[in-house]
Amino acid sequence: EQRSLVRLRVAATRTRDGVDIALMANAESRDDVARARQLGAAGVGLLRTEFLFLQRTEVPDEEEQYAACRDAVLAMEGRPVTLRTLDLGADKADASGIALPREPNPALGLRGVRLALARPALLRTQLRAMLRASAHGPVRILVPMVSQREEMLAVRRHLRECERELRREGHPVGAHTPLGAMIEVPAAAFALATLLDTMDFVSIGTNDLIQYLLAADRGNDAVGALFSPLHPAVIRALHEILAACRRTRKPASICGEMAGDPQYTRLLLALGLTELSMHPANILEVRAAVRRCELSALRRRAGALLRARDRSAVERAVARL
Ligand code: PEP
Ligand code: MG
Repeated sequence: EQRSLVRLRVAATRTRDGVDIALMANAESRDDVARARQLGAAGVGLLRTEFLFLQRTEVPDEEEQYAACRDAVLAMEGRPVTLRTLDLGADKADASGIALPREPNPALGLRGVRLALARPALLRTQLRAMLRASAHGPVRILVPMVSQREEMLAVRRHLRECERELRREGHPVGAHTPLGAMIEVPAAAFALATLLDTMDFVSIGTNDLIQYLLAADRGNDAVGALFSPLHPAVIRALHEILAACRRTRKPASICGEMAGDPQYTRLLLALGLTELSMHPANILEVRAAVRRCELSALRRRAGALLRARDRSAVERAVARL
């Protein structure tokens, strides 16, 4: 078993009927990026840049952030690297260099893009570092916790200004850096058609999307049993998001934990995903699961997933895929 997983490092991530699925890595350290490369990841689907800020007292400057982003891009040797802007707040609050406001309900508070837009100097330092890294290979920039058009428009304005600044200063910058949004707030999922023109791509963050859809804290064991990727609301949300992306031909991927769990691979492919991003430790198992799939058959049977009315019915529908 171990030996066959090792052989999977160099195997194609292709379904039995010949469709290539992109398995990307979620990374929150240099080691994760190195492992992603070793395991044949198609790119980095989510670089959690918070790792540069957590457990320290000073905020990393542009040079340090640039070096970290550039090294990730170089390590992936031409494969795309998705750099997420700072997603501090709520469950990611241990960055003492940035004084986070004390809030009664941090998961619904100033986190992700909200915090970034409240501290534009912080955001612009990050965007500059990311744009400079884009001179070394394909970079995509991903914005967390988006719920309003204005947020994407504001980030895009900052991005454009930073790019102009850098060129004026003589820094090389990649020709086109796509800007995308995490879809992890229910409002963004269900009104995605009203937001998509502000985005070049989307990445579905099921950890937060499930938390907010089901009103179940992702880190609270007392409601752990409620936190389920198989609740019909989650299946319907994924279906709606992917339908909106298909209609406007926007690339969509998924980077929540469920993407790395091989028991959900058939479900995600049936719903129409062709790009999954996960912790490097899950890549080989998910690749093995993809290689067992017959994509056209999965897609034909996807309707049953949407008709299921409770979690166990969804489970049965997944088992029959
Ligand atoms: C998510 O919310 O699904 C996600 C991938 O981001 P994070 O876990 O960093 O919040
Ligand atoms: Mg999230």
